[in-house]
Amino acid sequence: MSNPFSNDAPMNLNLVVDMNGCPNRCKHCWLGHMPNKKMSDEDALFIVDKFKDYFNQITFYSWLREPDYCSDYERRWQKDIDLSTGTKPQRFELASFYRLVRDPNYVKFLKKVGVKEVQLTFFGLKEYTDSFVGRQGAFKELLQATEILLENGMTPRWQAFINEENKQSIVELLHLIDQLKLKERCKDFNFFVHEGSCDGENRKLYGIRIQKRHISEELIPYYLDFNERLSESECYRHLIDSTDHFVPHNDKDITLNISAEFDVYFNFTEMSPVWKIGNLKKDDMKEIVRKILEEDIAPLREARRIPVSELVKRYGDSSSDKVFTLEDYQFYLLNTHLEHKFRNSKNV
Ligand code: SF4
Repeated sequence: MSNPFSNDAPMNLNLVVDMNGCPNRCKHCWLGHMPNKKMSDEDALFIVDKFKDYFNQITFYSWLREPDYCSDYERRWQKDIDLSTGTKPQRFELASFYRLVRDPNYVKFLKKVGVKEVQLTFFGLKEYTDSFVGRQGAFKELLQATEILLENGMTPRWQAFINEENKQSIVELLHLIDQLKLKERCKDFNFFVHEGSCDGENRKLYGIRIQKRHISEELIPYYLDFNERLSESECYRHLIDSTDHFVPHNDKDITLNISAEFDVYFNFTEMSPVWKIGNLKKDDMKEIVRKILEEDIAPLREARRIPVSELVKRYGDSSSDKVFTLEDYQFYLLNTHLEHKFRNSKNV
């Protein structure tokens, strides 16, 4: 899924915890792949207790990857609300398509909690979607989930991730939308295409990142903010003489991703070892909070030290037609640099 935890709400601490894992292993997953491990109610309480002396507004989410990927999702949702002392957790346009096709009560629950639209992620037709979601049957389930949503008066929103391998299959997916008459059957049906960020697992797909000239004319009306998409060579030219530094930081809310191992990360980018802030079981809590508030961790110190012109000089390709937003490209450069610099360090 894309990152939903960026909004303009006033300062609030969002704790986003991987309590149940995810049934999928998407090749584009920006978080990075992690083992599934079930966390308990006591674990959730332990995590909130750790932060509550330092932050008086906490919003708790028990899912970091697939929402509602636990059979007692309704009880869990209520627990999340009860644990939240600040803004109540939101639903976004996210749901579990795994659960939608297996549990007839789930769609009723979604309606009850006010979900009107659900995003479903494709990588083209069956071959590419099953392969890139990492699970045989995923494509069939996404079509079934679409029908379940329509039957229940809800809006399916199809997003498609495009790359050099699946680009023709994405065009065929567009044709499938016509065959299934999805626009006629649902006036709000939405379809959009994009290349995804370039962190986590998706950075490993740099080699097959879509080239601008290879995006079919047919897809351009559906391409997300196509006019803001740049080729890598355009990004390179923008950045090569820049005196800026690319330093991700929290604006209003602070959002922390917490793994099933109790490791804490900012929600800026991938959950790779270099971005770990600390561990709630092992490390001093005062020091973890200081690092969070002062944004004082090794990758951010390094980002403040090295100008973006140096990053692009070292890791950029001035002749590449691969597609990026300028921000995604800078994350790609920074994470590539961090991987080189901290490759062999256990403690950074
Ligand atoms: S992108 Fe795929 S693997 Fe990653 S959390 Fe979302 S559904 Fe799971």
